[in-house]
Amino acid sequence: MAGKLLVEVPEYEVVERVDLPARETAVIVVDMQNDFVNPKGRLFVPTAPKTVEPIKRLLEKARSAGARVFYTQDTHYDDDPEYRIWGEHVRYGTWGWQIVDELKPQPGDIVVMKTRYDGFYGTPLDDLLRVYGIKNTVIVGTVANICVLHTAASAALRWYKVVIPIDGISALTDFDLHATLRQVNWLYKGIIVRSVEGINFT
Ligand code: ZN
Repeated sequence: MAGKLLVEVPEYEVVERVDLPARETAVIVVDMQNDFVNPKGRLFVPTAPKTVEPIKRLLEKARSAGARVFYTQDTHYDDDPEYRIWGEHVRYGTWGWQIVDELKPQPGDIVVMKTRYDGFYGTPLDDLLRVYGIKNTVIVGTVANICVLHTAASAALRWYKVVIPIDGISALTDFDLHATLRQVNWLYKGIIVRSVEGINFT
């Protein structure tokens, strides 16, 4: 496409507050790894660092209320086909593959390694959520329209409720961010919350 096409973002609903029963709710932190979140990373997302603090506050709230915390960790090995699309990134065992220090998983958290955009594809995530009786997922992390959206979609298709706080996700463009929020709200009937401060675990 040559030049710029101006489009309007269709309406989607943003709420200020949502109450979620802690025992039936999991926070899923998607791919907050050095390669994506640290400026020295191989696939740095410039808006990702500003989500670290909100995610940290969300995790503190979740853990103290007794909600379970999951992480997805994008993981690739030699000659992964994704390297042809994105270049080498999050190679297993490297610094770039590690979750950022500020959000380091705590004892009791569960880290799920994944090889594609969808946190459910080829992983035990669905089984683990079911084992723990989870009905609601609060999904944060990066990249909004890639791994966050694929994971949110996959959760919604399995009938988990999806909740996304806007300050907990990051994208490469505003278009990608709004497309993600619109898709989650309009198609998957997910709840978009203005900020992590509006999420209450009961
Ligand atoms: Zn990848």
